[in-house]
Amino acid sequence: MTDLPDGVERRPFDGRERLSTRGETVYGEPRDAEGWRAWDAGRSKLGAMFEYGMDTGLVGGETVLYLGAASGTTVSHVADFAGPTYAVEFAARPVRDLLGVAEDRENLFPLLKDARKPETYAHVVEADLDCIVQDVATRGQATVANRNRRFLRDDGRLLAVVKARSEDVTADPDDVFEDVLAELRDSYEVLETTRLDRFHDDHLGVVARPK
Ligand code: SAM
Repeated sequence: MTDLPDGVERRPFDGRERLSTRGETVYGEPRDAEGWRAWDAGRSKLGAMFEYGMDTGLVGGETVLYLGAASGTTVSHVADFAGPTYAVEFAARPVRDLLGVAEDRENLFPLLKDARKPETYAHVVEADLDCIVQDVATRGQATVANRNRRFLRDDGRLLAVVKARSEDVTADPDDVFEDVLAELRDSYEVLETTRLDRFHDDHLGVVARPK
């Protein structure tokens, strides 16, 4: 099992050890008297990557670009342990919730933008980021990651989740993953992959670094 970043701990909730970060609650998760709130890997693919012991390279305090933030379930935990966290989401409805999540987190910056068009937020997001977290669940997941590579420092990390059914509902997930990884290799060296099925069916966790 690899080390968790500073600011992510396993702590007891309801009699069992669970991942947790310290911050205000967001989605009804339990929070203890010291302000640690459980991180539900069943609702968070990055949480599942930690539960599977993937080596994310995160140590805490990183600058992060999060693609596919939705209403902020996972990115709220990221902002609890990371530094400046830019959260891109293109659907207006979840961004309204995300703005509420950001009110409690001064390092979280919601952006109502399309992750396929990084040029539309390049003037806001700082250069040489430590990490991109991607969970867009849309067709063209490798293209999104490749287009956003420009924001990563050379030894940064891409932590991506690939949802097979978003690419092709009929294809064998393993074939989809192979195709997505092949395209990702245009811009990244893939360091580790793990299927997250214990928490999320037909999803692949990917750790990669820029080429
Ligand atoms: N990552 C979220 C979490 O764990 O809390 C859940 C993300 S949900 C599976 C995928 C999100 O990606 C949706 O909210 C969807 O609107 C967003 N999305 C899909 N394509 C996108 C794009 N091109 N640009 C920005 N957001 C996108």
